[in-house]
Amino acid sequence: MKFGGVCTSSGTNILRIVDIVQRHVKEENKVVLVISAMAGVTDELINLINYALSGNINEVEKSVVMIRERHVQACSEAIRDEGLRLETIRDIEGLIQELYFTLKVISYLKEASPRTRDRVLAFGEKMATRIVWRALLSEGVKAEYFTGGQAGIITDDNFGRANPIMSLCKEKLREILEPLLEKGVVPVVTGFIGQTVEGVETTLGRGGSDYSATIIGAALEFDEVWVWKDVGGIMTADPKIVPYAKSIPKISYEEAAELAYFGAKVLHPLALKPLIGKRIPLRVKNFFNPENPGTVVHHEAPNDKIVKAISMIPSVAIVTVSGAELYEAPLIITKVFKALYDVGANAIMVSQSSSQTNISIVVPEEKLQEIVKGLEEVLPKNCDVTWEGDVCVIAVVGSGMRGRPGVAAKVFSAVAEKGVNVRMIAQGASELNISLVVKRENAIKAVRALHDAFIGG
Ligand code: ASP
Ligand code: MG
Repeated sequence: MKFGGVCTSSGTNILRIVDIVQRHVKEENKVVLVISAMAGVTDELINLINYALSGNINEVEKSVVMIRERHVQACSEAIRDEGLRLETIRDIEGLIQELYFTLKVISYLKEASPRTRDRVLAFGEKMATRIVWRALLSEGVKAEYFTGGQAGIITDDNFGRANPIMSLCKEKLREILEPLLEKGVVPVVTGFIGQTVEGVETTLGRGGSDYSATIIGAALEFDEVWVWKDVGGIMTADPKIVPYAKSIPKISYEEAAELAYFGAKVLHPLALKPLIGKRIPLRVKNFFNPENPGTVVHHEAPNDKIVKAISMIPSVAIVTVSGAELYEAPLIITKVFKALYDVGANAIMVSQSSSQTNISIVVPEEKLQEIVKGLEEVLPKNCDVTWEGDVCVIAVVGSGMRGRPGVAAKVFSAVAEKGVNVRMIAQGASELNISLVVKRENAIKAVRALHDAFIGG
């Protein structure tokens, strides 16, 4: 079971975690917990690195004090046993000291390598996980604390977005966690954090606690992996955009992965990967409504609805390269993708005119300037680079559209009826989604129109 940032965000919520765990342990389930940093803490740690880099030690101190307060407060609320509470507060103080020194060093050196960044970002999970662990002990649940690395999540050294080495993870996680599970002990593991073979701490990328949970679930061949969130499961659309969006009861791995890539922030995009081969279901559960079945992600899902969900990536841009001669088009395309790779941007959508003289790529808007600069450096003079910002990608996702004619027609008529112009379109050969780009001012209107047309108003 993985508990996200909202679940750890206060003492009251941490007691709720204890309650859920107690219930499952009583029923003789073997449970491993994976814990995320309190909501907002990882973002604040990133701010702290930036304050330190700009030499703003005042801001660093203010913010570190606030982070400390928040965690100490949660200890007071969640850990009833006085001895355990004081021990945990001491742990928090120690971690806060270490964090502060690390930030001081960053401010002296005016440099934070990806490796140092990971070290800083890991503090959020370490603090929250200690509190949950001691809260469990305090309520009489047998539990043991581990960082992801200590538990056996071994990764490469791609700091900031490290990749698990599954064969090593499997061996280590089993060796370390299985004996505890046999004894009825609940391992409480920090999400998001791994370590290299040499023992250097890494992180799995933003939102990586989901991934930690599925790596562990797959290694131990558990029956299910549950991720507890503050939403009712994977939704048919972002409820902030479509207030009447509903929870999807069943969805396939591939549909859920498609949604993760297309900005529905419910799951880490790689989180499903470890589960697919073993067909271990993932359940997205509502922390505030535990009786609710939530969403089950499995290898198969019913196709009663052609479309399962509509998702949106809000801030993207279209970059168009035109003017290439036909014979040189493949070379130009190679250069375009190399330029994207060099700035670490992914191509969200790609479309090429059949004359092959122009190619349009949708990229994250925050990378636009860097990409354009890179392209202008590498492309020959006869090529033109133009771009268009203030656009959004909308993806219509569902395996029910596979081999079914008329879905695209329905997509276009739904948005056309609302007077929305489509700037670009793409459909993958897997026929799992149709994506379109529209002007930002039309995006909400378009998402609602599509939701109403395929899922219901
Ligand atoms: N705390 C990390 C983040 O905010 C990992 C996670 O929440 O899954 O990205
Ligand atoms: Mg988080």
